[in-house]
Amino acid sequence: MMNNTSSLHELGVAQLATQLRERKVSAVETAQHFLQRVRAHASLGAFLDLNEEATLAQARASDAALAGGKPGLSLLGVPLAHKDIFVTRDFVTTAGSRMLAGYRSPFDATVVARLAAQGAVTLGKLNCDEFAMGSANENSAYGAVGNPWDVTRVPGGSSGGSAAAVAARLVPAATGTDTGGSIRQPASFCGITGIKPTYGRASRYGMVAFASSLDQAGPLARSAQDCALLLSAMCGPDPDRDSTSLDVPAEDFSLSLDDSLAGLRIGVPAEFFGAGVAGDVGAAIDAALKEYQKLGATLVPISLPRTELSIPVYYVIAPAEASSNLSRFDGVKFGHRAAEYKDLVDMYKKTRAEGFGDEVKRRIMIGTYVLSHGYYDAYYLQAQKIRRMIADDFQQAFKLCDVIAGPVAPTVAWKRGDKSDDPVAAYLADIFTLPASLAGLPGMSIPAGFGDGQMPVGMQLIGNYLQEARLLNAAHRFQQVSAWHEARPQGFRA
Ligand code: GLN
Repeated sequence: MMNNTSSLHELGVAQLATQLRERKVSAVETAQHFLQRVRAHASLGAFLDLNEEATLAQARASDAALAGGKPGLSLLGVPLAHKDIFVTRDFVTTAGSRMLAGYRSPFDATVVARLAAQGAVTLGKLNCDEFAMGSANENSAYGAVGNPWDVTRVPGGSSGGSAAAVAARLVPAATGTDTGGSIRQPASFCGITGIKPTYGRASRYGMVAFASSLDQAGPLARSAQDCALLLSAMCGPDPDRDSTSLDVPAEDFSLSLDDSLAGLRIGVPAEFFGAGVAGDVGAAIDAALKEYQKLGATLVPISLPRTELSIPVYYVIAPAEASSNLSRFDGVKFGHRAAEYKDLVDMYKKTRAEGFGDEVKRRIMIGTYVLSHGYYDAYYLQAQKIRRMIADDFQQAFKLCDVIAGPVAPTVAWKRGDKSDDPVAAYLADIFTLPASLAGLPGMSIPAGFGDGQMPVGMQLIGNYLQEARLLNAAHRFQQVSAWHEARPQGFRA
């Protein structure tokens, strides 16, 4: 056994898995080390629920498997934490909402179960925006999360707890979900790596639904290599439980990480650069693109002409689907129920008024409005048509290039409170992540430098359908010649 476990949090997923496999450290020691770190940094607000007994039981099972020599499991003994959108049997699942305070699911989400099947040990549940609605993690009913690089700034959202926990080395990797950017944008704001796969690659079974035609699960970790390990475990068909899961076999995304980038055509969309992008972000992305040229890639100018329209289109479609999905929270079957009420309708009203936060209510109202008779054609149907055109624009672009690169967000992480009273300002900041979501394409964020306030800048890579391996390969090669993903926030060394 390793004598000194005090620096275990410095290790990434792949390194930790090797240490565990070689029995230099035990899964129980590892879990204890990370749990102690989580407790020491509780003020960051990243974790919502721990269950030390359950975590240690899983770790003991991993140690028994390790002793029995089960080399086939890729994540044996590696601690992970899950966004509180994934239902879990051993931990409370709230989706960041008062509506689900204290809720315990009778089953694990498919993604959770698949990671556990590879031997991962669950450390706990991670804070997020209520029902994954937000870009700053300020919509959680359980408090905001700090950005480890500057705790007076937001970590991004809605997977803000996931990104902050990984950046602060409270856990080597975490799950997140991305409906319109919620893996890529917090990864970018916290200086880590995250990937949202093609829509349908990962099962949505057991993910508390926000907008079902957009929601996708994916990993957040420090490197592309670690993301590849996790994503390989998370993906794969789930036909009996998620009818939108793709009939594409699970894939080992680690196999092509080292492929050469010589001849790779990187599409640079005009609409992702220029006036809408802050100078510090633009400069970091330009420098990263130059690195790619040194790696043998060529840059191809392309156009995604309907980029701006992705904002109104998304903010019609996502609330429409949310208003339908959230109708299940009525106080009858599970979750919060008002204590006093006159009759059934009054019970519904009071339950929903008490259980939902402001942003969720705003979206239910927008969604109900755009779906209502008389407005359906003008808003919802129109948005669906433009969504198709946005997807077609990408297919035109992929005739000219293999991957598309640009910023993840127009600026670095903003100060807490800056956009919390102005939802439209927050919606506008989603401009570069929404297009790939609407098209169902895989997208990732990789650290590409630092901007104003010494805050991380993320570069986005978008691939065509099922091109996750190519994205991870492009990201990994970049990470072999850059050190941005190894940078560490000052306050979280010990
Ligand atoms: N920021 C976007 C929203 O608020 C995206 C959130 C997400 O991807 N879950 O809807």
